[in-house]
Amino acid sequence: MRPVGLPGFAVRPVLDAAVQILKDADTVQRLWNSVPEIEAAEIAYLQRAVAEQLYLIPAAAEIGFMSLAEMKKLYNGSFVRKGSYLRATFYDALLVSAPFGICPSCYQRTVSTLDHYLPKDSHPAFAVTPVNLVPCCSDCNKIKSTIQAASADLQLLHPYFDNVEDGVWLKATVIESNPPSVNFAADPPAHWSEIKQGRVKEHFRVLGLNKLFIAHTGRLIADIGFRMNRLFASGGAVSVANHLTEEAHTRRNPAGLLPVKNSWQIAAYAALSESEFFCAYQHKTEYD
Ligand SMILES: [Zn+2]
Repeated sequence: MRPVGLPGFAVRPVLDAAVQILKDADTVQRLWNSVPEIEAAEIAYLQRAVAEQLYLIPAAAEIGFMSLAEMKKLYNGSFVRKGSYLRATFYDALLVSAPFGICPSCYQRTVSTLDHYLPKDSHPAFAVTPVNLVPCCSDCNKIKSTIQAASADLQLLHPYFDNVEDGVWLKATVIESNPPSVNFAADPPAHWSEIKQGRVKEHFRVLGLNKLFIAHTGRLIADIGFRMNRLFASGGAVSVANHLTEEAHTRRNPAGLLPVKNSWQIAAYAALSESEFFCAYQHKTEYD
C-alpha cells in the first residue's frame, strides 16, 4: 500500500455544485437541508480515520433528509457520469491523485475507479465525500466492495490516512523448487501496535496480494535467468548475490521519490540475494 495525499477539497463544494445541477426541486431542497449533517459526518470521519476507528461508524439508511438510494443516485448519476460538471471537477481530480496512476491499495494495477472506503451501500453520508473516495483499480474495488470491518485490526489500510512504510512488513521466502519460486507474507515489525500489525496482515490477505506478487516474481525470475547464469559463470554465487542485493537497494531508493521499504520487488530481490540455492542455481535458457 502506498499513501496518497488527502483530497484538496471537502464535501461542501461538491454539494454546492450538486444543488445547482440537480433538476428535481424537491431533491435539491432536501439535499440542501442535509448539508449540515453531511458536513458534520465528514468531520466525524476525519476524527475516526486518524484514530483508526472508521469501523465504529454505524451503517445507516439515510443522511439528513436524503435516502440511501438518493445518495447512491447522486454518486452514480451525477458524480460519476461522463460529461457532468461533478465528474470533470471532482471525480477526475480524485482519480488522478494516485502517483503514476497506480492503485495505492495493491500498488500493481492501474487506477480505473474510485473506491468508497466505507461502502456507499451502508454509508450514504459518505457517498460523495472526498476523503472516503480513494483512487483504486477495478480488481481491488471489486474485492473491497461491501466490506465493513468487525474490529479495528481488521480494517483495510486507507491510503489517505495510513502509512505502513515506516517499517519492513513484506517478507519473501525462496522456495527451492525447479525453477525456483518465491512466497510472500505480511510480517510486520513487533513494535507496531497490534491494530497496525493486524491491519497490514488483513490488507495483504483480503486483497490476495500473495498470489499477485508470486505471479510477478515468477515472471521476474524467468526474465533474469540469463543474466544470473552469466554472473555465476564469471564470479560465482557471490557475484549473483551482490547483483541481487544491489537490485533490492535500487528499488528502496526510487529516483525523485521518498525511499520505500516494502514492495514485492524489494522483498523478492532481498530474499533471492540471501538464498544460497538461488545464487548457485543454473537457469535453463536457450542461448547459454
Ligand atoms: Zn489495486
